[in-house]
Amino acid sequence: MERIFILVEHFAGKIRAVSYELVGVANLLSSFQPAEIKAILLGENIENLAKEFSEKSDLETFAISVPGLETYNAGVYKEALLNLFKEFPFSFCLSSHSTQGLDFVPALAVKQGAGCITAVELIEEKDNDLIYKRSISGGKLITSLKNKAPSLFLTIQPGSFKSIENGTTFTAKVIQRVYSSTSSTVRNITTKSLNVDSSRLSEAKVIISVGRGIGDEEHLELIDQLAALFPKSAIAGSRPLCDLGWLEYKQQVGVTGATVSPDLYLACGISGTSQHVIGMKGSGLIVSINLDPNAAINNVSDICVVEDLKTFIPVLLEEHHKRRLL
Ligand SMILES: Cc1cc2nc3c(=O)[nH]c(=O)nc-3n(C[C@H](O)[C@H](O)[C@H](O)COP(=O)(O)OP(=O)(O)OC[C@H]3O[C@@H](n4cnc5c(N)ncnc54)[C@H](O)[C@@H]3O)c2cc1C
Repeated sequence: MERIFILVEHFAGKIRAVSYELVGVANLLSSFQPAEIKAILLGENIENLAKEFSEKSDLETFAISVPGLETYNAGVYKEALLNLFKEFPFSFCLSSHSTQGLDFVPALAVKQGAGCITAVELIEEKDNDLIYKRSISGGKLITSLKNKAPSLFLTIQPGSFKSIENGTTFTAKVIQRVYSSTSSTVRNITTKSLNVDSSRLSEAKVIISVGRGIGDEEHLELIDQLAALFPKSAIAGSRPLCDLGWLEYKQQVGVTGATVSPDLYLACGISGTSQHVIGMKGSGLIVSINLDPNAAINNVSDICVVEDLKTFIPVLLEEHHKRRLL
């Protein structure tokens, strides 16, 4: 019997919702190729979380307790998992395509001599082969990949697959293990909460969202002026603008930011990668302003303005001003 492992992600004593989407992916894979599915959690005193995951997923779950592993540590994760895989070979090992998954899974795959496909959004069967699809070039292209390695790690794009239904509680099946890490050179110094509060975005009827296409911080003035036209509006943006410090992290929309659904979402100079689109695709009317007619944001937009935003927004503001005076 083949085996599929799910690497359950958790932070600050909570299981990340995406881990339940991984169960959906595992079920899909095992419908193509029957396999037993098992979950793995690592950490110090991890038994309770492993029990919670097992009760919700009905999966046999390894609780690997690592003394001293208070927070995620790439080195220790790799060591402990390689140790488990010696005893339990697998055909698939699934993780979230998150900062954490990206941090350790590709290196783990190299150590294990396995294949690795990251940011998977769709899995299909074609001519008795599994095809893994993911977006590239800022979401403009979709690539299809096949695996030739005997075992495969997949990092799964959050929001791409259905989560399992929560609500039913099953009897927990937890397998307890202890692993004492010896050689990791990686040490977590501190983890700081950003106190992100996206409540303003969730209440806004209109969101003016800005991306790297704005070019320069001083041009954000245009976005302020545009937002001022709409009552109950808020300014949001893509992750690079938050990383640059031009916006606050509480304004970030996407997989690692807020999920929003205003009546109007105006995306200015945003390419529309899947990490951003996941957070705003539920909006009412989506309007994009982008120089590139092939930008991926246009795939989810109701109105696509193919223009330089620095030319278009001043004209829009001026036109609005003129009409108000009529
Ligand atoms: C694990 C992980 C998590 C992530 N989480 C998020 C997330 O939560 N949210 C998020 O947004 N991103 C996230 N990202 C980053 C994401 O992959 C993209 O890099 C990011 O969304 C791109 O931002 P952007 O669209 O502003 O920039 P770009 O991709 O650089 O796009 C800029 C766009 O502006 C257009 N443009 C340029 N000049 C002009 C102009 N003068 N007028 C009009 N248009 C113009 C271009 O044609 C282009 O389409 C994540 C990435 C990873 C790996």
